[in-house]
Amino acid sequence: MESEFKTSNFIRNIIIDDLKNKKYETIITRFPPEPNGYLHIGHAKSLEINFSLAEEFGGKTNLRFDDTNPLKEDVEYVNSIEEDVKWLGYKWDKVIFASDYFEIMYEKAMFLIKKGLSFVCDLTGEEIKKFRGNLQEPGVESPYRNRSVEENIDLFTRMKNGEFKDGEKVLRAKIDMSSSNMNMRDPVIYRISHTPHHNTGEKWCVYPMYDFAHPLEDAIEGITHSICTLEFEDHRPLYDWFVRECEMENVPRQIEFARLNLTNTVMSKRKLKALVDENIVDGWDDPRMPTIAGFRRRGFTPESIRNFCRAIGVAKANSLVDYQMLEHFLREDLNPKCKRIMAVIDPIKVVITNYEEGKVEELFIENNKDDESMGTRRITFSKYIYIDRDDFMENPPPKYFRLFKGNEVRLKGAYFIKCNEVIKDENGKVIELHCTYDPETKSGSGFSGRKVKGTIHFVDSSSSIPAQFRLFEPLILDGSSDSDFLKNINENSLRICEGFIEDNAKGSKGFDKYQIFRHGYFSVDPKYTTQDKLVFNRIASLKSSFKLK
Ligand code: ATP
Ligand code: MG
Repeated sequence: MESEFKTSNFIRNIIIDDLKNKKYETIITRFPPEPNGYLHIGHAKSLEINFSLAEEFGGKTNLRFDDTNPLKEDVEYVNSIEEDVKWLGYKWDKVIFASDYFEIMYEKAMFLIKKGLSFVCDLTGEEIKKFRGNLQEPGVESPYRNRSVEENIDLFTRMKNGEFKDGEKVLRAKIDMSSSNMNMRDPVIYRISHTPHHNTGEKWCVYPMYDFAHPLEDAIEGITHSICTLEFEDHRPLYDWFVRECEMENVPRQIEFARLNLTNTVMSKRKLKALVDENIVDGWDDPRMPTIAGFRRRGFTPESIRNFCRAIGVAKANSLVDYQMLEHFLREDLNPKCKRIMAVIDPIKVVITNYEEGKVEELFIENNKDDESMGTRRITFSKYIYIDRDDFMENPPPKYFRLFKGNEVRLKGAYFIKCNEVIKDENGKVIELHCTYDPETKSGSGFSGRKVKGTIHFVDSSSSIPAQFRLFEPLILDGSSDSDFLKNINENSLRICEGFIEDNAKGSKGFDKYQIFRHGYFSVDPKYTTQDKLVFNRIASLKSSFKLK
């Protein structure tokens, strides 16, 4: 796995070259989320790239919150991001806030003004946009572009002192209004916002724009390789311009890679926030959310997510990765680790008519048939048991080997049973099956009298405990056309079933995981589980069942 990541990784090759050419001595990378939402699986890809590359070459990685927009940011997000990064197993060198650098950034903006490379502009946002031109036409210079250095110093100082309203003035870099790169057409570098900031409170009312702040943050921290997603490729000349013109001591190198996109998944904090705000999900950690918190609550392991991120590799071309690939790594991780257990998620009661009333028999069943060291567990058998509704059919098609009237099946770990009678309620729904068992066929007894084709699971009513099972489908029907994603919500993304599980699950805690025989991998939900009732989230079925469109 790891070797695949290493060979397909062009960023790694750049780093190797830079070290060989002594361009840098130590590699320093950073993971720079904006605290305006929870981390999603796309961020995991970025984390893996930044942390694993630094680690491989004996370097360091900073966790830096890019908190330059007080309107959208919140400490809740800061805390969740730290928790998620830790949970994934990454160890940062420093935690830093971009807002820690507001003073230096302000000074650097002043520095550009003094160099004649920056000016205060009174145009409105609309006008700035109009004046900027487009790819065919050059932009038009702002009428405020030739203000004197003194006037700019005075106005910018007064902007900082709170003398103007939001949007009344901005500070812009003076670069080139006819550049073929739109980002170079006198971009805005500071704006006014009278919004309290989660870190700096009311100290500032001018805030640096991302394009100005980011290269300075990188340079201040001595970041050697500033790894970001492809949409910033066109911003690189501007990035380099700010580092150069602000005369920063350290010169970081920006490298872009392709974003992760997953099938049937929207992947931007803005869109995920809409799902939370519209109550389509029950919070950022809803098990259907592609957030790290959602995957954790659903039962995914850090290993499965990291192995997935390594396997998808790092490339320059955008692509859509199949969600099933993530499930593959989950199964690969859990299969050897997980205890097996039986549960019935949609029960039909079965009466074993020839079994003694009140008798309870103990049976022993292996925890993992591929791994003897996991031992056996005790289950029970009695006159009243439950099987899953899916394992019975009144009018079975040919080659149906599970239970139907007149047919015999094997109960996993117990006996052969044969169905003789079907009991229905007044609406015709099957509510009870009357079966007989054959005492000769006890599991492990070496019985070889006859064979049956179907093996189904069961739980015994005398010992099993009630449990809730939450089964998921993709939240979004078609994640690719995501402009209208709120219209593409899958109404069946959550199915809640009330059933029973072996008492071996008694006392399970949030996040405990099991492979439930034939149903898949499940994890105990930390939020809904109570003293009286276990609630399980299905992490993934045993084999992929979801058909891609
Ligand atoms: P979003 O649109 O979800 O808010 P963003 O790009 O604004 O994402 P930030 O929180 O600002 O995300 O970014 C933190 C880092 O994670 C950035 O370097 C960003 O490029 C990277 N990142 C974000 N989304 C993805 C993705 N889908 N695949 C890979 N990297 C991503
Ligand atoms: Mg963003």
